[in-house]
Amino acid sequence: MRRKGLASMAVQTVATQSTTPSVDLGPASGLSCRECGTKFPLGPIFACAECFGPLEVAYDLPLGDPEALRKRIEAGPANIWRYAPLLPVPADVADKPNLNPGWTKLVKADNLARELGVEQGKLFVKDDSGNPTHSFKDRVVAQALEAARAFGFTTLSCSSTGNLAGAVGAAAARAGFRSCVFIPHDLEQGKVVMAAVYGGELVGIEGNYDDVNRFCSELIGDPLGEGWGFVNVNLRPYYGEGSKTLAYEICEQLGWELPDQLVVPIASGSQLTKIDKGLKELIALGLVADKPYKIFGAQAEGCSPVSAAFKAGHDVVRPQKPNTIAKSLAIGNPADGPYVLDIARRTGGAVEDVNDEQVVDAIKLLARTEGIFAETAGGVTVGVTKKLIEAGLIDPALTTVVLNTGDGLKTLDAVAETSQATATIKPSLEAFRSAGLAG
Ligand SMILES: *Cc1c(COP(=O)(O)O)cnc(C)c1O
Repeated sequence: MRRKGLASMAVQTVATQSTTPSVDLGPASGLSCRECGTKFPLGPIFACAECFGPLEVAYDLPLGDPEALRKRIEAGPANIWRYAPLLPVPADVADKPNLNPGWTKLVKADNLARELGVEQGKLFVKDDSGNPTHSFKDRVVAQALEAARAFGFTTLSCSSTGNLAGAVGAAAARAGFRSCVFIPHDLEQGKVVMAAVYGGELVGIEGNYDDVNRFCSELIGDPLGEGWGFVNVNLRPYYGEGSKTLAYEICEQLGWELPDQLVVPIASGSQLTKIDKGLKELIALGLVADKPYKIFGAQAEGCSPVSAAFKAGHDVVRPQKPNTIAKSLAIGNPADGPYVLDIARRTGGAVEDVNDEQVVDAIKLLARTEGIFAETAGGVTVGVTKKLIEAGLIDPALTTVVLNTGDGLKTLDAVAETSQATATIKPSLEAFRSAGLAG
């Protein structure tokens, strides 16, 4: 499953990790291979030295009285650090300079529910555009930053489809890190400006995201990238854990209950797999009652490698060349694709896609029904939700949570042409009367 290039890199990083001082990352006890289960000490490594499978954080979770843990969480700050006992961060994390993302709104979307034929009170939008840099990426960067601090990195970096670059730039600025981030050169202006404004280095790469990612993998193995913490490459196991907080918040905001159905956008697939991990942890800890839930994945038709594999019944994901307005989801070779397929199938969910026109329609549908202006990724998720309801795959009588992971102000071009002034008139009552808008 893994590419060959990772092999030498993994061995190299495993071999040097003995020099890493022992670190305090709270309840994190080590790293474990998602393929073969081999355990490794905490370190800036991401691939298994045995089988080259991806690593994830293993925990000694606080398996005590769930009631005491619930009270401790509820007494915590209104950001992701309320869940510090379940995250790879030191206990005093809330006192450190960071952006304190999370605890975003879970909006009861009754107007949208009416339009989609969902029962009143059953449809929710988890609106992560409310994070400090207006996307869900602040959650994952906050975790990677703590790992970078613990491992002694002073430069933060990433390969990004846009939102991650801004999140890294901002978090690095606040925490006093140098940052140097890499993006495809042709991103939306809103993403480029957000990535540059925080004062770090921003490099446009002539190529798509998969080219950027390949470049970063090479840079990590080269002396040029020595001492750099790439949040989604060599710090990826820690980065991924940030997405668990979405699962925690959704359940807490539903009154410590699991939703029946979740619709999650897929770029690399990390977020979807970690939401599933977070839900399973809450069950294991006794914080929510165990019941079945279904996870649905959403992609844009112009970059739908996971959806295509799901529909074809394949276990492997065939890479695609992305061509879609949903640039934040435009990863043609998604690292977590096979795991997403497993989760969708195991939970009884599905992976579906919508075309660019449907993305635009869905952005406008969410805006006019709930007053939420989503970026193109949110349009993908809402559009796929609509399609899955129409196909009878999402049950309109059960609780559904739809993720909006980013802010429409960053992808204005998607709707600019069809969202203009209704009329432009002289400042006179006569002109207004003529425009036919009164009453
Ligand atoms: C990065 C991103 C995602 C999901 O990314 P994964 O790589 O699948 O974790 C979803 N929405 C937006 C807006 C993003 O920027």
